[in-house]
Amino acid sequence: MAYVVLARKYRPRDFHEVRGQDHTVRALVNALDFDRLHHAYLFSGTRGVGKTTLARIFANCLNCEAKISSTPCSDCIACEGFQSGNYPDMYEVDAASRTGVDDMRKLLENVHYSPTVGRFKVYLIDEVHMLSTASFNALLKTLEEPPNHVKFIFATTDPKKVPLTVLSRCLQFHLRNIEPDVIKEQLEAILTHEDIKFDEDSLQLLARSAQGSMRDALSLTDQAISHGGGSIAIDSVAEMLGTVRTDEVVEILNMLVKGDRSATLAFVNQLSRQAVSFTDLLENLQRTIHELALAQIVGQADTEQLQPFVGKFSAEWLQIAYQILVVGMRDLKYAPDHKIGFEMTLVRLLDFEPVTSITSEPSSEKNEQSAHGVGSGRGNEAKSKLASSESKQVSKTENVDSQTNMNAVQSTRTPDTGDDTQQKSPVSNDNNVDREVALKNPIVSSLIENFDAHIVDIKRT
Ligand SMILES: [Zn+2]
Repeated sequence: MAYVVLARKYRPRDFHEVRGQDHTVRALVNALDFDRLHHAYLFSGTRGVGKTTLARIFANCLNCEAKISSTPCSDCIACEGFQSGNYPDMYEVDAASRTGVDDMRKLLENVHYSPTVGRFKVYLIDEVHMLSTASFNALLKTLEEPPNHVKFIFATTDPKKVPLTVLSRCLQFHLRNIEPDVIKEQLEAILTHEDIKFDEDSLQLLARSAQGSMRDALSLTDQAISHGGGSIAIDSVAEMLGTVRTDEVVEILNMLVKGDRSATLAFVNQLSRQAVSFTDLLENLQRTIHELALAQIVGQADTEQLQPFVGKFSAEWLQIAYQILVVGMRDLKYAPDHKIGFEMTLVRLLDFEPVTSITSEPSSEKNEQSAHGVGSGRGNEAKSKLASSESKQVSKTENVDSQTNMNAVQSTRTPDTGDDTQQKSPVSNDNNVDREVALKNPIVSSLIENFDAHIVDIKRT
């Protein structure tokens, strides 16, 4: 027997087999079981979420010889006809290839004649938004007052392009993108049924790569089976998709913890030689940072490999890192090439420091803190509190200590301000390094600018 691709072989035949579209299924089931049928339906949603499948099941339910219900008997001639894709009263039209008004007129020519064998004539028009204006007008007349034996089902990936006059005569259902977990579950069931070996990670990767489309997931799985020579393993799936595995993300996290710039750049070169998709890698890093930020709250990461990194990064750094990755992703299209864009994002991750304190700290604590604000989470938190309380203190001008401290800072910056200030300065030369660090702090530098303005005002008065 000829090989049938998974997407066709496992296309749902009744509502129970449809995955991830519960709200639409429920509405259709109720309409059928309580005999509240409309004459026109519109299913919208991206490719491969089940628009045509639902339309066919619905048409089958309408025409089952036993009775109209959400559970067709699957034994009668009508049910068999639908299952073999050969039912005389089902008219499937692809509007993408038959957009012209003549095609539409031809299709609607016999609309008033009774169905050949069934209860209803069902017209399924796929990609209905592709019809020409003249075609829509031709359709509209019938849609306004259709004969009782006619049902229209429209499917579209772009409902905004369907004229409002048509939309208002249809019951609309928007089919959602299917959740990766739901896709994964379905893949697992199918592969078990097909007796094909697989591992959890590869299914997760396939489910995520499908971006909400069950058909895409099944096509990718077919491809993965061929690529893996009859079984599915994470290495071959990652290679096939050119995507990034968690291992690579973990490697990058390690380098970020160490602040190892040269190793990071060497690793990017290596990834580039492996033709890794940098877009996927950025996306993966975003997911990872998100997971770590959540893990910081609940105390545990979903992915086992990320568990050692929980608490290694401060909450502030994770926020900044996420933002940097979002911007990096957005700007990837402006970079000369993806590798350069990715490299710049990584360098930014290494360089950005969310918190700098102007207080001098014991050198041991400083050593714990690596150059880019990564270190013990708790340490950083404490540091951040210190810095914020410090800035509050500094902003109170009546606080003498901070004022003199600011004078000292200012005297370093502008030594020609006046001898008095320099003489009053209580800060010893040992603190020069700390002053330099403090000057780099944006809070301090903005305060100094304000302070300068005050000095000028005072001198004027
Ligand atoms: Zn039947």
